[in-house]
Amino acid sequence: MGAGHPHLHVVTCASTLRAGGVDLVVLAPVDFHYSGLATAVATGALSPEAARIDVAALCRQHEVEHRVGRFASIDAAQRTVATEDGGELAYDRVSFNLGSVVAPGGIHLDPDVAAVKPFDRLSAFARRLDALDAAATPQHPVRISIVGGGPSGLELAGHLSARLRTRGLIQLLERDERPGAGLPVGARRRAVRRLVERNVEIRVRSRVEQVEADHLVVNGHRQDHDLAVIATGLSAPPTVVTAGLGDARGIPVRATLQHVDHDEVYAVGDAAYFTPGPLPRLGVYGVRQGPVLVASLLAARSGAPLPRFEPQREALRIVDLGAGRALAARGRWWAEGRGPLLLKRRIDERWLARYR
Ligand SMILES: Cc1cc2nc3c(=O)[nH]c(=O)nc-3n(C[C@H](O)[C@H](O)[C@H](O)COP(=O)(O)OP(=O)(O)OC[C@H]3O[C@@H](n4cnc5c(N)ncnc54)[C@H](O)[C@@H]3O)c2cc1C
Repeated sequence: MGAGHPHLHVVTCASTLRAGGVDLVVLAPVDFHYSGLATAVATGALSPEAARIDVAALCRQHEVEHRVGRFASIDAAQRTVATEDGGELAYDRVSFNLGSVVAPGGIHLDPDVAAVKPFDRLSAFARRLDALDAAATPQHPVRISIVGGGPSGLELAGHLSARLRTRGLIQLLERDERPGAGLPVGARRRAVRRLVERNVEIRVRSRVEQVEADHLVVNGHRQDHDLAVIATGLSAPPTVVTAGLGDARGIPVRATLQHVDHDEVYAVGDAAYFTPGPLPRLGVYGVRQGPVLVASLLAARSGAPLPRFEPQREALRIVDLGAGRALAARGRWWAEGRGPLLLKRRIDERWLARYR
């Protein structure tokens, strides 16, 4: 179910799986959009093609049956899943790779307000941004509110400040003392400095209560904007909850990536809640779970012991700050400049090339 980072890898292993007695059926939309490049695409720095993988073509190439559609519900007793368009699929084993969505964190949100995930909500932001920027003048620049100062909020603020024709009035609203949660203190300071240099207004200790198309309410005060985007952190998609598979943390899995209650149900990537120790929602974990899932499907068929996923302790994070710069951090180490961006582009391109 779904074709994100780990399942794309599984598709490329189809012939090995077939030889081991495992046939795959993938239920997923035709396109996968790589979120590592999402902010660059949404702000026009890269074309949408740069972040797209054609799932249908990948499945064809590896002779895997691809059903175009989306997962809706599961009957674990009957071992069937239902699709959003009313279809049904039977399974011996099922794996979920459904990604994540922005968690509004108690903010009252107009459903049309853009969010950094899923991708279709960010591409709506890109379309509106183009129209507003074209109509803006130095006297009336585009006013943009970015709600949430985590890595995605920083990326958006960085790209927008570098891209807007009229520079715009960009404000980044963060509930904490400083944006950049999860990054070392020095890196957080550097990110703030870069954004302030580019006229981004950083408003800390900002408790946003409501976001509408034309205004928001922060610390009890109304403030107008032309465009807003929500970047308040990620949670599992609502389907996980409505299907009874888990909660907003995700589908609870053991170290073997199997559901805590069902041996034949797996979950990987952002949609999984790794109960041995919750993981940050980063693509790298899903990427590394792919080979474990393949080995597990083969082992389950042959009766061998199932492999366990052992996550790395510290993952490298690279935040693209726009204007040709990025900030890289791993544990307490960090660096900022052109080098980290070149490294990010190389990692992204190498990963994308594998599935094209
Ligand atoms: C703006 C932004 C930038 C980021 N940058 C980075 C970065 O640089 N590096 C990094 O490591 N992480 C980054 N992340 C985090 C990263 O997005 C996630 O950790 C990663 O995408 C998780 O991979 P995944 O395969 O679980 O999910 P996804 O990549 O989201 O893939 C899930 C797939 O499932 C499909 N799907 C969803 N629902 C259904 C359904 N019901 N039925 C069928 N298919 C469905 C979706 O269409 C999607 O293609 C970023 C996140 C954001 C928001």
